[in-house]
Amino acid sequence: MGTHMKKIIFFNPNIQILKVLWKNCKLNWWRIMEKLKREVIRNVNSDISDEIIQDEALKAIRACIQCGNCTAGCPSGRRTALRTRELIRKACLGLEDVLKDEDLWLCSTCYTCYERCIRNIPVTDIIIKLRNIACERGYMMDGHKGLTHIFIDTGHGVPLGGADSNWAKLREAYGLPPVPPTVHSSPEALKECQTLTESTEFNDLVKYKKKEEKK
Ligand code: SF4
Ligand code: SF4
Repeated sequence: MGTHMKKIIFFNPNIQILKVLWKNCKLNWWRIMEKLKREVIRNVNSDISDEIIQDEALKAIRACIQCGNCTAGCPSGRRTALRTRELIRKACLGLEDVLKDEDLWLCSTCYTCYERCIRNIPVTDIIIKLRNIACERGYMMDGHKGLTHIFIDTGHGVPLGGADSNWAKLREAYGLPPVPPTVHSSPEALKECQTLTESTEFNDLVKYKKKEEKK
């Protein structure tokens, strides 16, 4: 009882101090709350959550209870600012911020969160879906865009670098043909890749310019 009384006596003066502070600072609490509410509502974009739950396998996102198991087990989150639970929450609310969030790209797709989720939510697959939506809407990191330019030029994300490259020499040292039987050795296949990226307007999305346009 003594402790309880102490608490009441301790908190009352603080509330008074707060009131005085608000009054002296001429801040209107309700106006601040209204402003916050409006901003939150303005940022909500249900397109994102609608797009996720269109996929039958990802509908389970609605069962998230924000327990935080996914964040607690995330190996990437131990080294980076990635907070898996936060991504899932933002996705549930359809906050467009989640698509612009660099943390979205810090997941290594190890599937630990999926294994630990008490609601059996395919967290990793949802993150991959969010990345796809982000890319479709043009939210990519510069490094990703650069990589796509290499892909459009060569048909590979990590190209060999020509028949004279160190990689080609290494392959030869192991008794392999210097150029592997991939898009590298098939100009027709490369042309197909380039036709695909152009006709789907992927080139515009990643701001790719052909060599002649670059000059
Ligand atoms: S572990 Fe599953 S239920 Fe818990 S916060 Fe993560 S996604 Fe939601
Ligand atoms: S899949 Fe991604 S978010 Fe999930 S635990 Fe692994 S790194 Fe973290």
